[in-house]
Amino acid sequence: MFDKILIANRGEIALRVLRACKELGIATVAVHSTADADAMHVRLADESVCIGPPPAKDSYLNVPALLTACEITGADAVHPGYGFLSENARFAEILGEHDVHFIGPRPEHIHLMGDKIEAKRTAVRLGIPVVPGSDGGITSDEDAIRIAREIGFPILVKAAAGGGGRGMKVAQSEEQLSSALTAARTEAKAAFGDDAVYLEKYLTTPRHIEIQVLGDGKGNAIHLGERDCSLQRRHQKVWEESPSPALNAGARDAIGETVAKAMRELRYLGVGTVEFLFEDGRFYFIEMNTRIQVEHPVTEMITDIDLVLEQIRVASGGELPLTQQDVRFHGHAIECRVNAENPVSFRASPGKIVHYHPPGGLGVRVDSAVYQGYTMPPYYDSLLGKLIVHGKTRGECLMRLRRALDEFVVDGIETTLPLFRALVRDEDVIDGNYHIHWLEQFLAGGGMDQ
Ligand code: ADP
Repeated sequence: MFDKILIANRGEIALRVLRACKELGIATVAVHSTADADAMHVRLADESVCIGPPPAKDSYLNVPALLTACEITGADAVHPGYGFLSENARFAEILGEHDVHFIGPRPEHIHLMGDKIEAKRTAVRLGIPVVPGSDGGITSDEDAIRIAREIGFPILVKAAAGGGGRGMKVAQSEEQLSSALTAARTEAKAAFGDDAVYLEKYLTTPRHIEIQVLGDGKGNAIHLGERDCSLQRRHQKVWEESPSPALNAGARDAIGETVAKAMRELRYLGVGTVEFLFEDGRFYFIEMNTRIQVEHPVTEMITDIDLVLEQIRVASGGELPLTQQDVRFHGHAIECRVNAENPVSFRASPGKIVHYHPPGGLGVRVDSAVYQGYTMPPYYDSLLGKLIVHGKTRGECLMRLRRALDEFVVDGIETTLPLFRALVRDEDVIDGNYHIHWLEQFLAGGGMDQ
């Protein structure tokens, strides 16, 4: 096992990793920008190192500063959290060259899944169903038109290096295809420095359902069920739940086993998520994330498995402590991502939290790093915290969530809590009757105007 872990992240995920380290008896090093000197993860870690000024590129993405911090504190492993350097294969490699363990998959798997065209090819090879689309990158408009005719409109142009919903454009017809290609390429080049794009059939009313996996890199891998993340805004998840209201046990076992088998074949190491769109009873692979995800607590609540703790164990060379038969799903869990944003315009609302009272009680978990008097800096993403609620049934879970949301007080800045209070009382949401465009339709239809 590791002796000392440096947590190369901030906010609630840094705290989440810290908690797992404490339980395992591993010493912790927090790193922070000058803007985060008062942050909770810095206060609770055994040691802390300032790694640069506020902009992420000079601090949380500053590889030389992170290496120096490992060197001076004697950390033997780095946990990257999510975002920042968590899916940077080169960072994992550089750490290896300096005899520091990266808590995540092997660099070649990060690299493979980071290129969505390669990831899709790998999925096909491993027997995972994919969205119909171009075989590889698109090189000319003529090529694009020919392939689009074969697949049929609407078509989605996607960036090979994509992430966070960027570099994605829909074309409803041949006339729109060339401008969609140009727009996606420009956006991809600006965001990722890579303008490679590919085509996919645009599914009109799918759900987003993803499978959580855990592997030990020795050929053992299990799945931990699914999360339904269909409630999205601008392709970003807002509400996640497990089990999905759209799946039964048979469908879950079938897709879960397909994915677990593929991970065994890859000898995948660590936690990962294989993401699908689900329409008319069929799954279509879209991408794999090779890191811990924001929404992982939903899975923890219904399996009682600490994903971060297991991630650290397998990274240190441990074997999977569980077989698929040991995994038991119980009850229902829902997570709301509470952001410091206006709940209607979604404009960021950084600033001082003058009053803070998180909800509690049976089945209620809040993963957050804020506190009363804390000032949310404007430099990073606006996630204020995650409210995760568990119940024996989906009905009980919704009942508790309604109560917990009403109890949650954050004063001084705007938050998306009013959005969740509206969602949890909406009939479609109560019935589990939604797809990936539902939330944008709800907002456009004035769902938040009362
Ligand atoms: P990113 O890495 O940018 O998050 P993903 O491939 O994971 O991109 O897709 C993000 C979201 O975009 C999905 O959850 C879904 O809402 C939408 N999306 C992606 N591919 C398709 C598709 N072929 N048809 C319809 N929607 C899609």
